[in-house]
Amino acid sequence: MIVVMEEKATETQISKVIDRLTNLGFDTHRSTGVTRTLLGAVGAKVVDTRELELLEGVAEVVRITTPYKLSSREFKPEGMEIRIGDVRIGGDRVVVMAGPCAVESREQVDTIASYVSRSGARILRGGAFKPRTSPYSFQGLGEEGLRYLREAADRHGLKVISEVMEISQIPMVSEYADILQVGARNMQNFNLLRELGRQRKPVMLKRGPAATIEETLLSTEYIVSGGNNQVLVCERGIRTFETSLRYTLDISAIPVLKKLTYFPVVADPSHATGRRDKVIPMARAAVAAGADALILEVHHDPDNAQCDGPQALLPAQFDGLMGQLRVIVSAMGRTI
Ligand code: PEP
Ligand code: MN
Repeated sequence: MIVVMEEKATETQISKVIDRLTNLGFDTHRSTGVTRTLLGAVGAKVVDTRELELLEGVAEVVRITTPYKLSSREFKPEGMEIRIGDVRIGGDRVVVMAGPCAVESREQVDTIASYVSRSGARILRGGAFKPRTSPYSFQGLGEEGLRYLREAADRHGLKVISEVMEISQIPMVSEYADILQVGARNMQNFNLLRELGRQRKPVMLKRGPAATIEETLLSTEYIVSGGNNQVLVCERGIRTFETSLRYTLDISAIPVLKKLTYFPVVADPSHATGRRDKVIPMARAAVAAGADALILEVHHDPDNAQCDGPQALLPAQFDGLMGQLRVIVSAMGRTI
């Protein structure tokens, strides 16, 4: 971090800033230029830069090291592959996770698993605990749903991803799922993140709809600093001033995240767009932008789905999309 002093800053003001930096635990290096004094602060501390910006005589504070050190690309420049049996996420192969929004019945999840597996998905998605905006909406089947999800995945050669909404659900979801999903609404549930840091299962963290990329990586930092660096980070759409779709899929977050962190990057065009006709072009775009994985909602009877029917792809649409993605990834030297 560099503290740039104002041109007219006095010696007393400069000394006060140096004292403050020392008290915060930084080593301070002073550079007195022709017009301004710069104070280089070196140390592994995370500080709120506003605290320094408000000191008298300070012009600006420039952060030169990232506050999310353990999640930073500098920490693992080669990137990281997450391995779940024979499925590897973060390498040359783009991985597709697909399935219903929510597990509704044994037959429903088995039918969908059979379709998505045939089309080339490697991981089955499905919520057993659903974070619903309304308390009157379907909340998920709980453990029964997890059991159906696991059975369907095993029958069709798939791995499982499912959401964990609170700390008490971690042991149960871990028993059935290969990847624990943290939903967008829980991105800053720091107690949950800390507990997931103590687990040995991969965790997919979804970006909150109003979270910056830096805030997202500070959330992954909670997981990694607890000892679990098996993290996937998922762009699922953010709130902008644009209202034509459910959210705005921040495609540019994909290459930005790839540069800032070593975690595999996942994109979720289903929740971002909220409409099946828009999911397909955005899925293509996300893969073209470098996503390591996609998570997509698929339903064979979306008109009667308990949750998110309008954004679920029909099995034939999903199959068509997979064919298109094969062409896109091959142009990028990847496979799917
Ligand atoms: C989901 O993937 O099931 C989900 C609820 O998504 P999000 O947390 O992104 O809204
Ligand atoms: Mn959904």
